[in-house]
Amino acid sequence: MKSLIAANWKMNMDIKEAVSFIKDFKERVKDIKDVEMVICPPFTLLNEIKGLIKNTNIKLGGQNMHFEDSGAFTGEVSGLMLKDVGCEYVILGHSERRQIFNETDELINKKIKAALQHKLNPILCIGETLDQRDNNKTIKIIENQLMNCLNNISEDEMKHVVVAYEPIWAIGTGKTATPSQAEDVHKFIRELLTNIYNENIAENTRIIYGGSMKPENAKELLSMPNINGGLVGGASLDAKSFGEICGMS
Ligand code: PEP
Repeated sequence: MKSLIAANWKMNMDIKEAVSFIKDFKERVKDIKDVEMVICPPFTLLNEIKGLIKNTNIKLGGQNMHFEDSGAFTGEVSGLMLKDVGCEYVILGHSERRQIFNETDELINKKIKAALQHKLNPILCIGETLDQRDNNKTIKIIENQLMNCLNNISEDEMKHVVVAYEPIWAIGTGKTATPSQAEDVHKFIRELLTNIYNENIAENTRIIYGGSMKPENAKELLSMPNINGGLVGGASLDAKSFGEICGMS
């Protein structure tokens, strides 16, 4: 399976910065063929970046979307619109969306369905807080999030879904899960996918890790058997660092 490294730029970068990043980054990664590389910038940069990555090995993704196609939803962007601007992926259920914008598993499930209808590949984020980990609730939280978010997603649809394990305590904190901590949860997610779907789906679903991934720790994390890529926040804002991570997969 081709691994996937996605950049989550969050609410960062203006047009000038994005243009300079992409020009630099595409040179650095032009020979990488066996890794899918995705940039998920703020919505305001999607159209500009689409032009810059034409005929390259770099793909485009959104950071969020509404489940409706259009209508009176001030401030929202739909899957239809993301597809129209050239996105192939969309991050859904990021912990910042869950914690700051109160997104629930039920809402995320609706968004996943809508994304799949528009042939966007959802990157579904799940993960526990530090408090939940300390209280031995990690496995239960992961199980609940995965089951609820994938409710009524068919086997065929699941072929397009990427699961990102992002322990909340490791996001933007500089604290990374150790490769074996991450591997344990990834292995559990794969077992759950076998139970919900079957072995074939479980083996072919990319389960990527996110949480303070950087060039210094990426190689070890990415070499674990059940880690099939990374979702990178902070380190993806620097073309050199993100290029290095892409080259390690
Ligand atoms: C993220 O927000 O998805 C993320 C992994 O951020 P960081 O790499 O900065 O921890």
